Amino acid sequence: MTRIYLDHASSMPIDLRVYEFAKPFLTSSHGNPSTLHSVGLEARRAVEESRSKIAQLIHAENENTILFTSGATEANNLAVKGTALRNISQGKTVVASAIEHMSVLNPMKDLQKNGYTFTTLPVDASGIVDLKKLESILSKQTILTSIMYANNEIGTIEPIQEISTLVHETGLYLHVDAVAAAGRIPIDVQKDGIDLLTLSSNDLYGPPGAGALYVKPGVKLQSIMLGGGQERGLRSGTENVFAIAGMGEAARIAHHEMQQESTRLIPIRDRLIKEILTIDQSYLTGHPTHRLPHHASFRFSYIEGESILLNMDMYDIQVSTGSACSSKTLEPSHVLLAIGLKHEEAHGSMVLTLGRSTTMEDVPIVSKATNETVQRLRKLSPMSQEWRT
Ligand code: PMP
Repeated sequence: MTRIYLDHASSMPIDLRVYEFAKPFLTSSHGNPSTLHSVGLEARRAVEESRSKIAQLIHAENENTILFTSGATEANNLAVKGTALRNISQGKTVVASAIEHMSVLNPMKDLQKNGYTFTTLPVDASGIVDLKKLESILSKQTILTSIMYANNEIGTIEPIQEISTLVHETGLYLHVDAVAAAGRIPIDVQKDGIDLLTLSSNDLYGPPGAGALYVKPGVKLQSIMLGGGQERGLRSGTENVFAIAGMGEAARIAHHEMQQESTRLIPIRDRLIKEILTIDQSYLTGHPTHRLPHHASFRFSYIEGESILLNMDMYDIQVSTGSACSSKTLEPSHVLLAIGLKHEEAHGSMVLTLGRSTTMEDVPIVSKATNETVQRLRKLSPMSQEWRT
């Protein structure tokens, strides 16, 4: 049995080219980028070069728009709290779609406890945000609206340009969590009209331990991490040079290879979807066409996601059931509830995120394993016994 890893949204292997590129920053060029000697300067150059490669991936105005953080969670926290605190004189209202990652929703809930108004924006059954509702809730006091480029659990790509136009007609800033989309589909922060954008190294086949926040020139942001004043005073703490250098190289490679890789993955994704949907009472979650090239997500009636994950693992196929980040709770995914699924429907989900190791030969193996898993679990499920009688 060869391993088929289909959980790239939770964690990706580091690209070996990236690893080779970044290795010296753990060994020979290990300097602190804030020091002035030659070993420190080597590290500083690597950080600045990485900034420039990341700016190119998202077509940012210049490299100074990129701030490094420890990961996407920190970048999302910085975007939400950093803008809310700094722009309090303009208003105290923040908005997020109901399907944002918890690292956006929880800082907004925290702001709410401290006197801000937090409004969630509904999405339709395919996960697209309700633009009419957005238009109606925006006000001059809306200092931040956060809508993700694409959702990590259901693969739906949001109409960011339309959202940006609406936000800027009335409100102040648009923040976009692009963790799931970056390196998969082209992103142009200038054309898309984005003020702040979150990226994660590991979601680009880079090392874990680095993330980035794009901050458009002129956007007012306050630091939430205080200390030695690194990253122009906006994010203190000694830079993780290995992870940052690796992230830049990963972004450079993704920029070059993205189109070719998407063209390769789309037919594999579509074939997987077609085959898995032949299973009785199986449904695609997310948008059928406006979805990420590497993303196939489903729900199966009468069974339960954790059992699906564990059964698939017995075939050495790794899948996810909703968000890996919140799987410690037994609550169904907030994303699946937001697209209108009932609790029992939301429990039976399986998310496949394809990657560079995925091939067309995997499709029959994965669909056969899924079919056997679903049939086996349904035989055991009290819910499905009721359905049959
Ligand atoms: N945003 C999205 C869309 C995510 O999928 C994740 C998790 N990979 C995060 C933010 C947070 O990333 P991390 O846990 O690496 O900080």
